[in-house]
Amino acid sequence: MAAPATFSPLMESIDPATGMVIARLEATPPSEVPGILTQARRAQAGWAAQSLQERCALVHRLRETIYARRQEIAERVMRESGKPRVEALFADVLVSLDTAAYYANLAPALLLPEHVPHHNPAVKAKSGSLHYEPYGVIGVIAPWNYPVAIPLGQMIPAVVAGNAVVIKPSELTPWCGALVEELFSQAGFPVGLVQVIQGSGELGEALILAGPDKVIFTGSVATGRRVAEACARRLIPSVLELGGKDAMIVLADADLEVASSAAVWGSFTNCGQACLSVERIYVERPVAGRFSELCAAKARLLKLGPGSDPHTEVGPMIRPQQVDRVEEQLREAVARGARILTGGRRRPDIGPCFFEPTVIADVDHSMRLMQEETFGPVLALRSVDSEQEAVTMANDSPFGLAASIWTRDSRRGRRLAAQVHAGAVMVNDVASYFGISEAPHGGRGVSGWGHTHSRLGLLELLRVKYVDVDHLPRWPKSWWFGYNEELGVAADRFLQFLFAPGWRHRWKSARGAMRAVFRGHRI
Ligand code: NAD
Repeated sequence: MAAPATFSPLMESIDPATGMVIARLEATPPSEVPGILTQARRAQAGWAAQSLQERCALVHRLRETIYARRQEIAERVMRESGKPRVEALFADVLVSLDTAAYYANLAPALLLPEHVPHHNPAVKAKSGSLHYEPYGVIGVIAPWNYPVAIPLGQMIPAVVAGNAVVIKPSELTPWCGALVEELFSQAGFPVGLVQVIQGSGELGEALILAGPDKVIFTGSVATGRRVAEACARRLIPSVLELGGKDAMIVLADADLEVASSAAVWGSFTNCGQACLSVERIYVERPVAGRFSELCAAKARLLKLGPGSDPHTEVGPMIRPQQVDRVEEQLREAVARGARILTGGRRRPDIGPCFFEPTVIADVDHSMRLMQEETFGPVLALRSVDSEQEAVTMANDSPFGLAASIWTRDSRRGRRLAAQVHAGAVMVNDVASYFGISEAPHGGRGVSGWGHTHSRLGLLELLRVKYVDVDHLPRWPKSWWFGYNEELGVAADRFLQFLFAPGWRHRWKSARGAMRAVFRGHRI
């Protein structure tokens, strides 16, 4: 655990386009977190007692609230995270609306108690079923890059499932965090059920220490490790949605016009600061030259500027330190032989966090640019000699969030998708599965564990209870007490009857086996 920092009672929200303070918010003292959790537990008890249908009805109200305030939400996301308004509308508002609609409409069907038929004749007199129960209080620790869609994508299924939520937004986007809480309270959720706590990493640590019943963490690999350790110490289950280094494989039969537009959008949307950014492109050699030219030409057309300008396509990065990291990775790659085809420069003339959309070719896996998450406006290209080399390269990474494959042959795309080490693979599109509510999102390797979104994401927020009913309780249970030599023989016959290879042998054991069944227990 990091040394406790001095507590500062005010948090500043900064516009990354200008570096100016746009809002000031009250920070939450870490000492208050246990009390906040107690309040959440109290609210959760009443909330879980409501029917699933009643909870879904309130999520419909939340959807209506988000819809009514969509312009204001987009404006705040744009100002605090720097992305263009169109991206705020699509990636934050639309995704949140669809998440609310999906769970509010479908949760009752997704969570029907499930009958579990027994295959073993010895337990046919019992019937089993799976039931779902809320965890209690879910701790959500969120990043800054999609400051509304990411937390809402986790909080909505959490409350649908009957949980309370304590959310710690990123210290870089506290103003959006405050708005998220406001949306729930305006929609009429019970007081204390959804609470935001404002602060930096130490407050995230305090949240875990206070003992929520599950933690959903989204952020970097380095913080994810710390969160996993803190949770493990208290045996708190966690979902970790961590960084990505998504590969794009462009095969020679791909539609290069479409694939190059996808590469440019996938690398530069949100200024490259998406977990699902296209970070590495492997392109088959015969089309590599044409593909790089198309990418460079399209990158040159992009308008760099503040999100408030309606024509802006690439906004600022979040903070100057993030720009430093991108610059360092590019400098090292160029020193090792990579070639910048366009971009590669800071733009202090526009603002403190602007960096030109950059296309770089001839990268290789010895470079930090190909090993570490870049999280900036960089499109990195490497030629390969075959589809197999492309897959091998794509898998040569500790990350495993998502990937894409570009080919006109969808069967080939599916075949290669099966070979790529990632939680999701898109054929002929990039990243957009994040907006498909039915699609599970979750990484492998250092990209994390568990899922958000979809039915799998909902099940992460529920404990599964198996309920078994014995319909013939007076039927003798030979495995109960009364052990002796005779039962030992009969038990072995019973095993043979069930599992011996060949029917003849099994039937021969049947009589002895029945002795075990009918003998019953002595006490
Ligand atoms: P970050 O790891 O710096 O911070 C994430 C959150 O963790 C913040 O709220 C932060 O205050 C909190 N935190 C920091 N230290 C903590 C600690 N010791 N204990 C508990 N909480 C702590 O990440 P970021 O810069 O906000 O986000 C960018 C990263 O998130 C990138 O790596 C990106 O790929 C990743 N990300 C992943 C996904 C995904 O779904 N897989 C989505 C978005 C972003």
